[in-house]
Amino acid sequence: MTSLPIITLQNSEELPVLTPEISAPARRLPRWLKRPLPQPGMAFTSDVIVDLKLETVCESAKCPNRTECWSTKTATFMIGGNVCTRPCGFCSVPKGKTEELELDEPERVAEAALRLGLRYVVITSVTRDDLPDGGAEHWYRTVVAVREKTGAQVEVLTPDFRGNRAAVTRVIESRPDVFNHNTETVPRLYHRVRRNAEYQRTLDLLKQVKDEAPEMPTKSGLMLGLGETMDELFDVLADLRTVGCDMLTLGQYLQPSPEHLPVERFLPPEEFEHIGTMARSMGFSMVASGPFVRSSYHAGEMASHLVETGHSPPLTP
Ligand code: SF4
Repeated sequence: MTSLPIITLQNSEELPVLTPEISAPARRLPRWLKRPLPQPGMAFTSDVIVDLKLETVCESAKCPNRTECWSTKTATFMIGGNVCTRPCGFCSVPKGKTEELELDEPERVAEAALRLGLRYVVITSVTRDDLPDGGAEHWYRTVVAVREKTGAQVEVLTPDFRGNRAAVTRVIESRPDVFNHNTETVPRLYHRVRRNAEYQRTLDLLKQVKDEAPEMPTKSGLMLGLGETMDELFDVLADLRTVGCDMLTLGQYLQPSPEHLPVERFLPPEEFEHIGTMARSMGFSMVASGPFVRSSYHAGEMASHLVETGHSPPLTP
């Protein structure tokens, strides 16, 4: 058996380099990225979403975990419509002309959370650069409605509100249990991956949350496999720690359609595990690192471990 070549990480830890068959731009998914076929239990979740005319990022972003999550009556609600004002290269949410906010949406999200029996609700939104407050008041009303109706914990996964600090403050005032804002990728790739966003703006947002609500856990996530180097990745993780980010998710980028950015590299599960271990050693209280990890994947489980123990188990789904 030939041994794998080795790459050296920033802190001299060693990882196996990917073999050519999995480092080449992918036409076929490697074996570890196969997911289960749809399960019967998904119908209940689907019916609730359809009945209440809600959007989910599970569907809009073509999330690979939908079978698993929806079978266990878990979904991530996407508020503010299903059209985004940003042309991000990785995201399959439709872009273009937005519609007016639906004022009863907060109540419908709360009703869906109740029917699904959720004890931990993750809410995200499209980016609404067309609105003066970026939709912050709508966010506020949704978080409050969910908590009042269900008593559940709420995690918000917000856009950057174009750096509008008052908008961020308004979301903080809704007192979410976790404030999540994704970094998505390393700064060198922002112009391709996250056009119209700014790396520093993301760091500033996370810092603002910590400054205004020091007890509120903050969380961020990156997709790997877009062409980032390990040095760049660990520079970002260091920046996130500098602004006090508590929780981290790292998952494999998957190309949602041929029109979206290609996958540059499929990281095998053991590499995710290794990166997760290194991230934990940097002081993050919670790290989930694995090919199928998404911002909202097992979010409640991760948050409860954080509350109970102050640390997370090595979650590498
Ligand atoms: S990981 Fe999140 S976005 Fe994906 S299906 Fe599960 S709840 Fe939905």
